[in-house]
Amino acid sequence: MRVELVNTGTELLLGDTVNTNAAWIGQRLAALGIQVTRQTIVPDGAVIRVAIAEAAQRSDVVLVSGGLGPTNDDLTRESTAELLSLPMELNEGVMEHLTAYFAKRNKIVNDATKRQAMVPKGASVMPNPFGTAPGLYFPASLGEPLGWNAHIFLLPGPPRELKPMIENEVEPRLREWLPDGASRRVLYLKVTGIGESDIVEAVEKQLEAVPGLDLGYCIRKGDVDVRLAGSQSAVDAAADIVRGAFGDCIVSEDRRIIEEVIVQLLTDRGEWMATAESCTGGTIASRITDVSGSSRVFGHGWVTYANEAKQQHLGVPAELFEKHGAVSEEVARAMAEGALRASGADHALSVTGIAGPTGGTPDKPVGTVWIGLASKAGETWAVKRFYPGMRDRFKLLTSQAALDLLRRRLCGLTPRS
Ligand code: AMP
Ligand code: MG
Repeated sequence: MRVELVNTGTELLLGDTVNTNAAWIGQRLAALGIQVTRQTIVPDGAVIRVAIAEAAQRSDVVLVSGGLGPTNDDLTRESTAELLSLPMELNEGVMEHLTAYFAKRNKIVNDATKRQAMVPKGASVMPNPFGTAPGLYFPASLGEPLGWNAHIFLLPGPPRELKPMIENEVEPRLREWLPDGASRRVLYLKVTGIGESDIVEAVEKQLEAVPGLDLGYCIRKGDVDVRLAGSQSAVDAAADIVRGAFGDCIVSEDRRIIEEVIVQLLTDRGEWMATAESCTGGTIASRITDVSGSSRVFGHGWVTYANEAKQQHLGVPAELFEKHGAVSEEVARAMAEGALRASGADHALSVTGIAGPTGGTPDKPVGTVWIGLASKAGETWAVKRFYPGMRDRFKLLTSQAALDLLRRRLCGLTPRS
């Protein structure tokens, strides 16, 4: 199946907005076994019409993003209607959605917004629960007079509106059109704590031997998604290989990220966690509180950047700093145990490290970090990690390692050496 993308928006060409929609769609379709054949970026304006026409001549499906909004540079809807010679009609369903959407925000629908309720005749509306502009689907039959055989989808530009529409409206149709779409399975194993190249080395040979398996890797925030696609039996066989090689490093098999997994595990156990962070500056607390429902499991988080703060709030003894330094196993343990005491939580994570670029020494180079975990039931753990590089990456990887330490405790595992 030939699928082309047309991403519209002058901001994409100016470099003000990164074309993340194209990347995301590419990954989603790859998971279905479809490789996008071409991506085109065009500015707002009349050229959208040319780009859609060219893409439709070459392909079976055209996915167009952006330009469905209320402003006069949003021309995608009108351009497509003109191209296919379809009159515009007011769609009552969309009008009701717009009225309700604005009423909820104590606003009335103005004329510019009303344009979004105009639907080309023959196109069907794809609902947009997260915004005003609905998506539009033009079945291939509408292009037949022009000699085309392409289904055309018009999708909103904002990623949070586009993504659910792709998942709920576009992918089910693509699956229907794929020759063996119904029997195809895709499984994502989210692996943390192991680098991509180590994963490849450990399992690639065995995975390559699985007939009909479509294999992919994608590095995400601090972990690696191993994507297994193919028949049910191929995916099952491949998943067993990956689980066998590093099952205890698999965070989820349903695309959930580690903070979501932890909030779920703690919720199931009715337990609480706390954080005492130095070099991560609150990143761990921020990631946990990104998860809806985290208020049931997270009550206390400290950012104790200065040694005095570690003493004052966490009760870390002053002599530990003199004897071992702030970045040490002893201080990491004392921070975690202090946070456990002060919060009354069941588990407390701590981190203390050198983010750089300055502050490193020969025996504690930039990137050195100690991570502690104290729990009401169980001994205190402390692990040393080394993440040299940029500060933001150091914070991300350290927070990932800390969250993984807690995950391992909650799953009855031991720390990774
Ligand atoms: P539009 O629907 O064209 O008005 O787009 C609205 C907003 O969505 C833009 O200002 C961008 O911030 C965002 N956006 C549009 N296209 C893309 C894209 N291809 N990738 C990422 N963000 C986009
Ligand atoms: Mg735009």
